Amino acid sequence: MTLIVQKYGGTSVADTNSLKLVAERIIECKEDNNDVVVVPSAMGSSTDELIHLASQLSEKPTPREMDMLLSAGERITMSLLSMHLNSLGYSSFSLTGSQAGIITTSRHGKAEIEEITGERVKEGIDQGDIVIVAGFQGFNRDTREITTLGRGGSDATAVALAAALGAERCEIFTDVEGVYTADPRIITNAQLIDEITYDEMLEMSSSGAGVLMARSVEFGRRYNVPIIVKSTFNNGEGTLVKEKVMEEAIVRGVTHNDKEMKFTLFGVPDQPGIAGKVFGPLSEGGIIVDMIVQNVSKDSKTDISFTAPTDQREDVVEILSSLSSDLDAEGTDSDENVARVSIIGAGMKAESGIASKMFSILGKNEINIGMISTSPIRISCVIPKNDMNKAIEALHEEFISQ
Ligand code: ASP
Ligand code: MG
Repeated sequence: MTLIVQKYGGTSVADTNSLKLVAERIIECKEDNNDVVVVPSAMGSSTDELIHLASQLSEKPTPREMDMLLSAGERITMSLLSMHLNSLGYSSFSLTGSQAGIITTSRHGKAEIEEITGERVKEGIDQGDIVIVAGFQGFNRDTREITTLGRGGSDATAVALAAALGAERCEIFTDVEGVYTADPRIITNAQLIDEITYDEMLEMSSSGAGVLMARSVEFGRRYNVPIIVKSTFNNGEGTLVKEKVMEEAIVRGVTHNDKEMKFTLFGVPDQPGIAGKVFGPLSEGGIIVDMIVQNVSKDSKTDISFTAPTDQREDVVEILSSLSSDLDAEGTDSDENVARVSIIGAGMKAESGIASKMFSILGKNEINIGMISTSPIRISCVIPKNDMNKAIEALHEEFISQ
């Protein structure tokens, strides 16, 4: 029998009616002569609500207790789904991440899956049961603690489980039709992408496409698990993420990220080893630094700017101010009014002039570029946040709609 892992996102399991619809989908897959393992997210925005509850009682809750709290969200969905399937006459049981043998690193809130033993999952499959595994969580052997995988982590659970169990594919059910050429909330004529490579999808996810968590795409690529992103609410084909696709695109999609800020350390002595001294403590502090720019130095001093997630602002500011005094720098600054727009496409590798075309499109629209970074298949520019929508529209129009 073919094994399929299905993941359902928060909006697909937001209430009992949605759970009934999800159960129908699961049953349809099972009745099609497949084995099915299901990974649900927490219901609706309940993870946000749990975070809010915590913030009312504690200014800085310990990461351990946050994981104890947040891992509960997915437990609610998994058990409700399983009991509903049972009531419809289907044999099903639910497992927490740790019961399913999802072994992770020890870092609370951002743990990474290291191994999946999956014994109880396999036993369930062998008995013909529909096994429901809580997304977004695991267990660390050394600390003996429950961990969570970071926001959106159920995608990683699902694809990693699909890889570990040798599933034929991993289906990610969500509230949109699949992966689009740009965010359809901003670009009304954004197109649904039929097929996209792992490399392109990884760049899309890492540069702001929220539909799939980047780490899940990494698992898909590493273990060659086809990932299908599709809607829970209709029967569209969705988007298939795989190794090689039929049609190579110069620009497959335009993404944006307005959840990062720009931080600057002014007047750092320009000496060998200085970048290490700045970014070492930031990385030890778990800060996810994205783009980095070091200015030309003047009088043996230089400014270093970088972007990092806005929700890490407090930690970054704290680390930077102690760095500023340790390194005898001239001060720090943080700027919230930035956004990043990116164009992504595997065909870029073989085509020249794409970067300059992007810059001139932004220039024509009087959008100032503050920082630039590239990979072989991506070009990103940091621009003022107020210009973000205009930039996405212009880039989508020139590179994709034409
Ligand atoms: N419930 C978690 C979140 O909201 C994990 C997930 O949905 O994938 O981030
Ligand atoms: Mg998600």
